[in-house]
This record gives sequence, structure tokens and C-alpha cells, in this order.
Amino acid sequence: MLLEEITMADFKNAIKKTRTVIVPYGTVEEHGRHLPLSTDTMVIVEVVKRVAKKIKVFVAPPVHYGVCTSTSQHPGTIGITPETLRRITIDIVRDAYKKGLRRFILISGHGGGLHISSIKEAGEQLIEELKDVQIAVLSIYDLVYKDITDIADTENDSHAGEMETSLILHLAETLVKGRSKEEYPKLPKPFLTKNKMRYWPGGVWGNPAVASREKGKKRFEIMVSRTVGLVRDIEGFK
Ligand SMILES: [Zn+2]
Repeated sequence: MLLEEITMADFKNAIKKTRTVIVPYGTVEEHGRHLPLSTDTMVIVEVVKRVAKKIKVFVAPPVHYGVCTSTSQHPGTIGITPETLRRITIDIVRDAYKKGLRRFILISGHGGGLHISSIKEAGEQLIEELKDVQIAVLSIYDLVYKDITDIADTENDSHAGEMETSLILHLAETLVKGRSKEEYPKLPKPFLTKNKMRYWPGGVWGNPAVASREKGKKRFEIMVSRTVGLVRDIEGFK
């Protein structure tokens, strides 16, 4: 059940059958020269919409903006601060709790460290505050990491590389504008730098050239089935 489509009456009925909601998180973030800025949001929203067709669960509209660190200087990235992400997460979960929801899957299409830890920090605060609540916080890539690395042709694939390009080819091929060159960030860890583009000019981590629609379809199906499993797990988790 997609919250954006159902009515008040539908909600009242459905809450008798499930108290689980999935909240997808995305970004507006550069994904190389070839993928749309909403790649992360698009992928996770399509996954959870498909999940809602397979298992009884509420699906909330996405939190479309996220915390972007290494891509913060690239053209097109529009990020929010960790504080904003924590606050909106707390507000959404608290209010959904008031309406009867008890199990929350906060799942992100963006795997950035600060981004995920902001949602986690909010989650930790919420489990202290709310009674009888279960909260899962993760990125979709944590969930499918093992399955995906086994079938990937790129050894170190990540942002806008083989997988994300394949996923967008599968979901919205017309939005893929050619292919960016293979690239890997060379950020000078452990030093932080304001000038991130100097170390990562193309904003790609991996090799988009080996992406295909078929690979995208396969990865998409894995993401859907793992997320369905997660809904079952959270319903059994005490
Ligand atoms: Zn991405």
C-alpha cells in the first residue's frame, strides 16, 4: 500500500492487518556524466513499490534529499545536513507512530557513511523514546552486498558504476546519457578536503561500460526479494 495513493479509510482498514512501514531515502546527487541526479531515489522507490506488490506493508513517499559528502562540490548535487536528516526522520517516525505504525524500515538508496549514520542516530533516539517499536536502518546495498559482489564484473564497484548504471538501464533507459569513463576516487584519506573534485573529477566509482539492462534486472529482483525478506524479519523481531 502506497501512502501517496490510499485514502484515510484504506489506511484505517490496512492498519488492522499490518503495522509495518517502509520509508525510502534518496538523494539529489551527481552520478557521473551519464546518470540522473535522482538515481538513488529512483532505485529505492522502484524497489519498495515492487515490494508492496508482493507483501502487505505500507510504503511511504521518499525522503528525496540526503547527506552527500564526497560529491558535495560536484555540479547538481543538492544535499542536506545530518541535522536536517535526523530531524525529518524523527518527525516522520513519531507521527507515523501516533497513527498506529510500529515497525519501521528506513532504507536508503544512498550508502554514504554520514547519511546512514544520521538516520541511525535518529533511530537510536526513537527506540529509547517510543514503546513497542522496531526500527531497521540500512542502505539497500548493505542488504544485497554479498549477492551482488558475487555476480559483479567490476571488483570495486560503487557510485555510478556497473551496478547503478545497470539499474537505471533497467528502470529508465532513456535517462542514461551514454557512459562515463571508468574512474575511482582518490580522496586523500584520512585528510578531509574541501576540494573534492580535484581527487574525483568525474564523480564515478567503477566502470559504467560493463553495465547492461539484464544485469540491472537481475540486481533489481535481488533487491526486491531481500527487502521482502526484511519485512518478514522485522515482523518476527522482538
Ligand atoms: Zn547512487
